Amino acid sequence: MAKMIGGRLCLDFANTVGGRRLASEKKGANDHAVLEDRLTDYLDLLAWSLRAGLLTDADANRLVREAKRREEAAAAVWKRAVELREAIYRISAAIASGKQPRAADLELLNRELAVAHGRVRLAFGEEGEFVWEWIDTKEALDQMLWRIADSAAEMLTEGDLTRLCQCGGEDCGWLFEDTSRNRSRQWCVMQDCGNVAKVRRFRSRLRKTK
Ligand SMILES: [Zn+2]
Repeated sequence: MAKMIGGRLCLDFANTVGGRRLASEKKGANDHAVLEDRLTDYLDLLAWSLRAGLLTDADANRLVREAKRREEAAAAVWKRAVELREAIYRISAAIASGKQPRAADLELLNRELAVAHGRVRLAFGEEGEFVWEWIDTKEALDQMLWRIADSAAEMLTEGDLTRLCQCGGEDCGWLFEDTSRNRSRQWCVMQDCGNVAKVRRFRSRLRKTK
């Protein structure tokens, strides 16, 4: 099961891969291979959304039924989800390595944002204040994409982008926000990538001293 270590919904979504093998040594390169994709169909997307707290059990069950009834539509949502994920990944990885995001990726995110923004409305809340609400979510197969796109927009406009990082582990490439006080976080999960790197350094030291 995918770990939620990104510190932000859109980053955890970008991390729904076992890892990414970068084509060049430079971190954040746009050319990379996805290793162990964890979003292989619409049901994977539902399972992840449930885990991320975007859906209740009842929502998820209803959407499973809906997906069975509208297979093609569900497959189309899954395809959009993967495209959105990759766009979020590339934009974030570019920023993490001090580069500019590609226009095509921003455009894709903007298309999803346009869909999402078509599904919000202003309502007068119970506590006497105005709140944004998602409208008509019951049968919408793509409702998780609205929140993910929204999370990406929020990060890009309001987040501290200097804290956006990409794990330095080999074949990892996971993204996270480094919220440590001294900005010292190098790895997605120390027990995973951090330890692998430590062991590798140790081995190469041993080799050298032989
Ligand atoms: Zn890692």
